[in-house]
Amino acid sequence: MDDLKTVGEAVFAELLRHVDAARAGAGPVVGRDGIDAVAKELDLQRRIGGGSMDLPGLLSFVRTYCDISADLHHPGYMAHQIAPSDTPGIVADMLQSVTNNIPLIYELAPAASAVDRAVYTWMLDKIGWAGTGAGTLTNGGSLGNLIALVAARSSVVRDAFRDGNPPGLVVLAPPTSHYSLRKAVAVMGLGEQAIRPLPIDEVGRIDVRRVPEVIDEVRRRGERPIALVANACATATGLYDRIGELADVCAARDVWFHVDGAHGACALLSPKLRGLLDGVERADSATWDGHKMLRTSALCTGVLFRDRAALAELFRQDASYLYQEEAAAVDPGQYTFETSKAPLGLKIFLTLAWRGEDGLREYVERQYEKAGVLWELIQERDDFEAPYRPQSNILCFRYLPWQGDLEALRGRLIDAGEFYPSSTKIGDRPYLRAALMSPATDRETLAGLLDAVARVANV
Ligand SMILES: *Cc1c(COP(=O)(O)O)cnc(C)c1O
Repeated sequence: MDDLKTVGEAVFAELLRHVDAARAGAGPVVGRDGIDAVAKELDLQRRIGGGSMDLPGLLSFVRTYCDISADLHHPGYMAHQIAPSDTPGIVADMLQSVTNNIPLIYELAPAASAVDRAVYTWMLDKIGWAGTGAGTLTNGGSLGNLIALVAARSSVVRDAFRDGNPPGLVVLAPPTSHYSLRKAVAVMGLGEQAIRPLPIDEVGRIDVRRVPEVIDEVRRRGERPIALVANACATATGLYDRIGELADVCAARDVWFHVDGAHGACALLSPKLRGLLDGVERADSATWDGHKMLRTSALCTGVLFRDRAALAELFRQDASYLYQEEAAAVDPGQYTFETSKAPLGLKIFLTLAWRGEDGLREYVERQYEKAGVLWELIQERDDFEAPYRPQSNILCFRYLPWQGDLEALRGRLIDAGEFYPSSTKIGDRPYLRAALMSPATDRETLAGLLDAVARVANV
């Protein structure tokens, strides 16, 4: 620790320079060298195990590392839905790395445990479950979906945690659900084939009218649905399933309803956008990522349950060396898959304390509006097409004259340095995909994006 002051201050100054430059749009959005070239640039072979790194060497490493890394703060960053970390979350990361408390049991991390509880309670409150529900924080939406599905299974097969799966358990989900769902179902021992695909419309939203017949048909075959999972919103398109209507169908047929709100539960913060999640309070569980639209660094996810009992039953553990009866109610570790884990709520707590719920609401509304601006700019041109009006800050689009491989076009665009979109398919058709995460992105950036696509397509 004796070098923390000198090193900490110097490194922080370097990081500040980097963030300022990135926000101003300097440098390419992401490095494009292959992994071996990057290993060389970072001098990994020589440095690993060397112990010879001095402060100038460290600062040069930090600079090179930042330069090669994807710049989430850059206005042209629009690839994955990860937040350009905001100040309070960065402070939380520093606070955590210095204290390094782990909220496994309350006694080990009193402050962290209290903060985590305050944060998932805040999330529960936003959904409308503060009185009845329970929540936990975990490392990412993927793990969050797994935890929710394990709880859903326990609600259908009470002793599944102890005895494993009886035959015939299935999960109902649209083909547009997040890949983590397939992983979760596979690691639960059901096999990914146990996902029964729900019918969707031409842009990938669940066709709610046909859901009752799918549930009935599954049951007629003797299968037992442990959950129906909906997107709020879908990763690829940013479109929301009709949550309220699905909640009604699930309630009428007694099926656990899980809302995957990893990205889009943030709409709950805005009176303007909240309608997208109308009825979410009638779901059974939900996931909500902080590191997407709540502006925190990775990772921080709320897994939220309407009924407190669902979580209490979740991992029925017999770890009496850790959990004492009377303390059990406040020991967070028994409600997560992880054992040791960081106190993830700190990032969200400080963001709320510093920016206010209003600050977050403004961020969400502004980013969602930007996708609308991109959509309008596309309507004004006859060389671009977007297959739907965006409901979030994600929009898929394509450049009509381009007949070649989309990845080749995207590669040219990223090589040019100013923009970094991702790509996806809707049905069989490939699209460029903009997930507008950076506060620095504006109308000019978006107009520039379309110009740049046309330009690199025509060289
Ligand atoms: C991002 C995302 C996930 C996965 O969350 P991670 O935090 O990346 O693990 C799950 N579902 C949806 C709808 C997502 O957008």
